[in-house]
Amino acid sequence: MKEKLLGRTLLELEEVCLQLQLPKFTAKQIADWIYKKGVLDIDSMTNLSLKARQTISQYYEVGIIKPVKEAISEDGTIKYLYQYGENAFVESVLIPDKKRLTLCVSTQVGCKMNCSFCSTGKQGFLRNLDSGEIINLLRSIDEFDEVSNIVYMGMGEPFDNYDEVVKSIEILTSSWGFALSSRRITVSTSGIIPKMIKFINETSCHLAISMHNPFHEERVKIMPVEKKYSIEQVCDELRKHNWYGQRRLTFEYIVLKGINDTYYHAKEISYLLRGIEAMVNLIYYNPTPEFPFIAPSPKEMEEFQKELESFNLSTTIRQSKGQDILAACGLLSTKQLSKTK
Ligand code: SAH
Ligand code: SF4
Repeated sequence: MKEKLLGRTLLELEEVCLQLQLPKFTAKQIADWIYKKGVLDIDSMTNLSLKARQTISQYYEVGIIKPVKEAISEDGTIKYLYQYGENAFVESVLIPDKKRLTLCVSTQVGCKMNCSFCSTGKQGFLRNLDSGEIINLLRSIDEFDEVSNIVYMGMGEPFDNYDEVVKSIEILTSSWGFALSSRRITVSTSGIIPKMIKFINETSCHLAISMHNPFHEERVKIMPVEKKYSIEQVCDELRKHNWYGQRRLTFEYIVLKGINDTYYHAKEISYLLRGIEAMVNLIYYNPTPEFPFIAPSPKEMEEFQKELESFNLSTTIRQSKGQDILAACGLLSTKQLSKTK
């Protein structure tokens, strides 16, 4: 089995070159070929000597894995399915929206967090993706040059796979890598505090927090992570940072009809967010037969939005995309596949 070049940082590629007794600058050339030019094989790296290409090919391959399946929604959203070895299926979703083309990437096969409204959570946890597998979700699609934004909001909890996630961000944002601005990257978390603090200090990407309920006793019932890291502690931590600059903080809030959409919830959210410059992103619950929740009507959604705005909170309502192909938030699950394969 050959090792992959994809997913390695410049420093790691330099180590590869050192090992193979190739000049150090070869690493920069390799990074250029795999991240900027998007070649599929080592033979195509034409500014490397034939001998260098042969030496590298003995032990390494680029490591691009194409999706095994694509589904296109009526609204233009595309869902890609990948098979990363036996039983490991993951999805990514490409979402066109006006001038933007956003790719929603996964970080784990399944998820350990077990939120009670989420299909990925329901499927359980198989394993973490490595940085190469995360980067592959971008590099393997034909549209990779046109992708303008990356959101880590697919399957898995990014901060439960912190090192590989941050490594993939390094590759996306470095000048030797994809050279994307960190302002085009958003990472969403259910609120693993120690990793959240590390992330704030070590990157400059946008951060999204899945709140979904401001009350401890209620949140703990739908998000077990609340037991260990309460949303109140999460907010206390976030209050220590300055969110007035270019770096954005958002709170995601799935509206579950009759459960988390009252005046009291709006009031408590505004209390939690006091002194924090942030946006509340209201998300329609995407129903699946496996869960008992009900989605709000557009009118109910707007009413809750008004409640929040009466407390001076900035809000947006996220329009759900790709529902017909189960590509919308919380509907990503590859459980059936893993079972049948
Ligand atoms: N694990 C991370 C990131 C992936 S989940 C997190 O939880 O933040 C991405 C978003 O989809 C989260 O805000 C999550 O709460 C939301 N989501 C999960 N299930 C959903 C559902 N049934 N309907 C709408 N959004 C859902
Ligand atoms: Fe995991 Fe996020 Fe789904 Fe919760 S909502 S189970 S953290 S993927």
